[in-house]
Amino acid sequence: MYDLVLKNGWIVDGSGNPRYRGDVAVRGDRIVAVGFLGDAAARETVDVRGLIVAPGFIDMMGQSEINALIDNRVLSKITQGVTTEVTGEGGSVAPLTDRLVLDDSDVMKKWHYREDWRDLDGYVAQLEKQGSTLNIATFVGATQVRLAVVGKDDRAPTPPELAHMTAIVDTLMQQGALGLWTALEYAPASYSKTDELIALAKAARRHGGVYASHMRNEGIRIDEALNEVFRIAREANIPAEVSHLKVAGRRSWGRMPSVLAKIDSARAAGLDITADQYPYTRAATSLDASIPTWAESGGWDSLLARLRDPKTRARLHAEMLQPTDGTEGFYNEAGGGAGILITGVFQDSLRPIQGKTIAEIAAARHHDPIETIFNVVLGEGGHRTDAVYAVMDEPDVQAAMKTWWVAVNTDFGGVAPDGPFGTQSAHPRAYGSFARILGHYSRDLNLFPLEFAVRKMTSLAAQRVGLYDRGMLKPGMAADITVFDAATVADKATFEQPHQPSVGFAYVFVNGKKVLDHGRLTAARPGRGLRGPGYVPPEARGGR
Ligand SMILES: [Zn+2]
Repeated sequence: MYDLVLKNGWIVDGSGNPRYRGDVAVRGDRIVAVGFLGDAAARETVDVRGLIVAPGFIDMMGQSEINALIDNRVLSKITQGVTTEVTGEGGSVAPLTDRLVLDDSDVMKKWHYREDWRDLDGYVAQLEKQGSTLNIATFVGATQVRLAVVGKDDRAPTPPELAHMTAIVDTLMQQGALGLWTALEYAPASYSKTDELIALAKAARRHGGVYASHMRNEGIRIDEALNEVFRIAREANIPAEVSHLKVAGRRSWGRMPSVLAKIDSARAAGLDITADQYPYTRAATSLDASIPTWAESGGWDSLLARLRDPKTRARLHAEMLQPTDGTEGFYNEAGGGAGILITGVFQDSLRPIQGKTIAEIAAARHHDPIETIFNVVLGEGGHRTDAVYAVMDEPDVQAAMKTWWVAVNTDFGGVAPDGPFGTQSAHPRAYGSFARILGHYSRDLNLFPLEFAVRKMTSLAAQRVGLYDRGMLKPGMAADITVFDAATVADKATFEQPHQPSVGFAYVFVNGKKVLDHGRLTAARPGRGLRGPGYVPPEARGGR
């Protein structure tokens, strides 16, 4: 007797093989049979004739670790077939210190949640207590480790500090982190030198971890940034993932084929390098990211003080027009103020500028666009403003998407039109990444077969981060299953109206429980905190 049988579907098993007609049986939280099951008895039998039955999708950069605590529906993910997300880019849920929690107190007050944990065991306990539709697995953020030990200053760690940092990585890997993740384009991570990252990556690798990176540069200096990833992979002997692979900035457009070739040759030379991306030409990050990172040394208060000082402000203005480090900087990469759209503000008083570009805001204020950026950052009083930057070119995005070792991400936390984040603006990738690849790119543009797209979204991702019992429809695997209609699957979210769930998904099951039924969420919250390959149960950790 099975708990669930999905009958007569088109099985796309995650391997990339052609679809075939068959049934999938589930008992408890596991898939127990796949193929022709005849009239097998089951508590629930669902006829999925004509629909695609695939492994649940894995979001390689999810960002829902806090969102899930605030709204455990994580609706924007489930409604595009995502059942597991991988998170922890730069910042992560652990380690936390009392001082770091204090820094988050305004955000906690605004969104009504509490950081009661200090390590990964504590976070997972909190997540599972509050429930979640989907599974969450996390890396240790290298930024987070640096913040906990070094703070926000632009300096190298002392040898005892570095030893403390590697010990934290060891501890969190044993608690089930997937590896080490850097976000080197942002302060204070940008203050880290490669040697520091190699030391931390070695600690992650001792426990089977992976190194993932939002690289130091994604534009003019992308070759150097890739070389740094390769060096870390080689010297720490660790697999590496290039996060949200892109070529940013008009001066670099058209370079994706050479970037892909460079990674291919590193792979051919014996390095284990892969990547992931979201299927859009605009990036999303904070508005302050367009300001040179040295201005943030010491933290937010230091940044605000520098912006208030006329001389420093003039220097920052000049450097944004003409960066001194040989990059274009986010401002130029977006083609100036017209390419930067404000999508979310922290202070309610700034709500009128949401949905407008920096060029529009500057024109209305009869002010210069860069000065306008400074004034908005000052107006937020130490909180982040969300912005969308028009930095990519469509042929580059498609070239990466067609590459067999490039997985998929949303790079956006779970949101819902009627949830607490529904009044904040968003990037359409939050709701649409996976559906857009299946519908727009695979079916409508015919860039690759559906089976190729599903493999990128499932087994490629699972195997990369060591979640070996997910990402395939096979007996013994976790029963994370997404059922959709290949003819109608589509993304609906746009830059103008991002809060629109994707369509075409009939059912989503997480750990054997139905969480989506024809576009509607059920009451089930079967999501778990998933642990990486280095996980050691608390009782087996012993003295170290
Ligand atoms: Zn990033």
